[in-house]
Amino acid sequence: MTIATQAEKPAYPHDINVDLHMHSTASDGALAPQDVVARAAANGVQILALTDHDTIAGQREAQETAKALGLAYVPGVEISVTWGSETIHVVGLNFDLNHQGLQDTLASIQHGRLARARAMADGLMAHGVPDIFDEAMSYAGNPALIGRTHFARAMVARGLCSDMNQVFQKYLTPGKPGYFAHEWTSLSRAVGAILGAGGVAVLAHPARYRLSAIGHWALIDEFKTLGGTAIEVVTGSHTQQEARRFQRVAIEHGLHASRGSDFHAAGESRFDVGAVPPLPDATRPVWHGWPH
Ligand code: AMP
Ligand code: MN
Ligand code: MN
Ligand code: MN
Repeated sequence: MTIATQAEKPAYPHDINVDLHMHSTASDGALAPQDVVARAAANGVQILALTDHDTIAGQREAQETAKALGLAYVPGVEISVTWGSETIHVVGLNFDLNHQGLQDTLASIQHGRLARARAMADGLMAHGVPDIFDEAMSYAGNPALIGRTHFARAMVARGLCSDMNQVFQKYLTPGKPGYFAHEWTSLSRAVGAILGAGGVAVLAHPARYRLSAIGHWALIDEFKTLGGTAIEVVTGSHTQQEARRFQRVAIEHGLHASRGSDFHAAGESRFDVGAVPPLPDATRPVWHGWPH
């Protein structure tokens, strides 16, 4: 199966080039919202959602650019959740951008990122890394959304590590000097805010969580009980094997499947916008029935 280009409009939903997970400078992506959308258009994407972490600040610009370029646009966001001791990401799609409850939830999550960033810089300094706070901040398009990606970019630019992945492995993952556990929002509030705004809640990149099979089952069970209806199967964060595993999980749990690149920046992300493999035929795409 091949992914169709914009010129053709395939009837079969799996064949539409859909990318429902990507980032811009509104959170930790390197391109402005309009440039991410233009890149998606150039890559043949037909339906897209910009899903910045904990903010909808880039949505209007993305929506307007998509409209001008003839792409179907779906409002999106990726919400940070604390579930037990694990950070979980929930993607919200196709919601009302004006919904107050969702905006309040996002504002409450953003609160605290600045203090966390200061703690990260201090933690790194205590381990002999020069103070990187201002440089990390200079990579953040929105200071309220400062996060680990901005630190990783700053540390690579300084020559402290050879690539982003090395920064994460050495400094920014649990147990490492620049990692600070952070209390995000609850799964219940995140899913509730998305549903309250009329959207669809999608469990992002499930293979990334450090959970056992039972842990995954418990997470999905709770997610479904709260009203979550979809799960990412094909994502830039999954290997082919992980995509196969979560294809089965989606079918077993009766969840719709999503597809997204999780694109952050050229040269950083494994997959370009719209360039991940198609969804397996056996799954039901979350975009089934959406206009395009
Ligand atoms: P934060 O929300 O500040 O904890 O940052 C999380 C972000 O860090 C994720 O959304 C990814 O963009 C990025 N990230 C996490 N792990 C890695 C990794 N191993 N390599 C590159 N980027 C990563
Ligand atoms: Mn990110
Ligand atoms: Mn994520
Ligand atoms: Mn993401």
